[in-house]
Amino acid sequence: MTIDYDRLYVGGHWATPATGERIPVHAAATEELLGSVPEGAEADIDDAVAAARRAFDDPAGWPRWDPARRAEVLERFAVALEQRGGETARRVSAQNGMPIGLAQQFEGGFPPLLLRYFTGLVTGTPQEETRPGMLGGSSRVIREPVGVVGAIVPWNVPQAITFLKLAPALAAGCTVVLKPAPETVLDALLMCEAAAAAGLPEGVLSVVPGGRELGAYLVAHPGVDKVSFTGSTTAGRTIAETCGRLLRPVTLELGGKSAAIVLDDADLASTIESFFAATLLNNGQICWLGTRVLAPRSRYGEIVDTVTDLAKSLRIGDPLDETTQLGPLVSSRQRDRVESYIAKGLGDGGRLTAGGGRPADRDQGWFVEPTVFADVDNGHTIAQEEIFGPVLSVIPYSSEDEAVAIANATEYGLGGTVWTTDADRGEAVARRVASGTIGVNAYVNDPAAPFGGIKSSGIGRELGPEGLHSYQVFKTVYLDPERGRRALP
Ligand code: NAD
Repeated sequence: MTIDYDRLYVGGHWATPATGERIPVHAAATEELLGSVPEGAEADIDDAVAAARRAFDDPAGWPRWDPARRAEVLERFAVALEQRGGETARRVSAQNGMPIGLAQQFEGGFPPLLLRYFTGLVTGTPQEETRPGMLGGSSRVIREPVGVVGAIVPWNVPQAITFLKLAPALAAGCTVVLKPAPETVLDALLMCEAAAAAGLPEGVLSVVPGGRELGAYLVAHPGVDKVSFTGSTTAGRTIAETCGRLLRPVTLELGGKSAAIVLDDADLASTIESFFAATLLNNGQICWLGTRVLAPRSRYGEIVDTVTDLAKSLRIGDPLDETTQLGPLVSSRQRDRVESYIAKGLGDGGRLTAGGGRPADRDQGWFVEPTVFADVDNGHTIAQEEIFGPVLSVIPYSSEDEAVAIANATEYGLGGTVWTTDADRGEAVARRVASGTIGVNAYVNDPAAPFGGIKSSGIGRELGPEGLHSYQVFKTVYLDPERGRRALP
């Protein structure tokens, strides 16, 4: 039985879509049809933005509610999402190949957690302060919601990434029009069911599925005040150009090519689960993964063997099976892309030590074997370009300085890890890596700490108070009772 929707969630209502076009979705592991949703058109975006604009500009509307009153609604939203958490995880897993255990944690668990974190921040920390003026009087400094947000998300971790944007934006008092990726729309429409059940006020949230043209239309829409985008660096550049021309604030979470620096004192075997999570999680379809493994020449062969054994040991299979560690890629297009990089790696002289092809026992689904290349030069294409699949390059280095230099010789700067038995040494090396985030012996996106990239990995931060601030603008009200009473000079 397929999951099919005939209406879109626009302005807080289930609305008849402007056209009869539909987006079909196929299971990554079986290629079977999973379901379909209406494809949004420009007219649907117009309706959604108009509803968001009305809700935002209403003098008694959502942005002007007491934060605690917004928090009550968002708590109902969190509960409604929790009730659907298992089904959300199953839908994401079937659509994009994410192993179900991970989907339960990321896709089922993160959205309610993020809603509660950000509503707690808004209700628990002062959103305005009074500062004594240096020139007399005082200034009231107020954080206000930035306005109507156009949010665009990718397919790889669709619900968690959606809530990196929705949770702070809604808690701050913004209204949102979301465009999910066409590959993962069934989870997006389930999220709309939760929003409807929670009774989000009219206009506060709309979800309009579609492709890149529809995304570009939303980015440039005159009714949008701020854009928040997660996806490829190529699309991010185009969006940044549009927002630059319009002087529209924008947050960009883009690609990465992070380094996992294995120091010469590392005990990789004892941290192999964390190492797996930091390099190959979600079938390699995560932007912050450390896909360049930097190994000291003094232990190079041994580390190549450890990484190779890890790749060969992974259980490949149906992502809905709890024991699966590595599922298929999201689409045949994505598999083609990953396979073309494997061919380039071989062409450049990389030595294949694991994988390189499709699993022999899978004749359906977009599977690629976990693949390891040794003897990779950091200048090779597979070490410079984001592959977004289960492909690791092991690059040798001679000294700690050289390891840092190699880690930093990339256009990206998003994630990374340092592996060592000496935590102080690990932190010292981590501080030298040019990256927005980095971990020592593990990598986690903690909701309380800012996440984001430098260089071609993006602009701005999500998570933490910094993630909330990107949906707020400062307003200063000068208060000078003395001067107000006398004539100005
Ligand atoms: P993509 O950039 O093609 O698409 C992402 C989303 O943007 C989709 O919803 C798509 O429809 C939309 N889109 C594409 N071009 C657009 C444009 N010009 N204007 C407006 N919207 C547009 O990326 P993808 O291939 O679907 O996703 C994989 C990429 O996303 C990888 O490169 C990965 O690194 C990146 N990513 C980054 C992060 C992060 O947080 N930094 C997280 C996940 C994915």
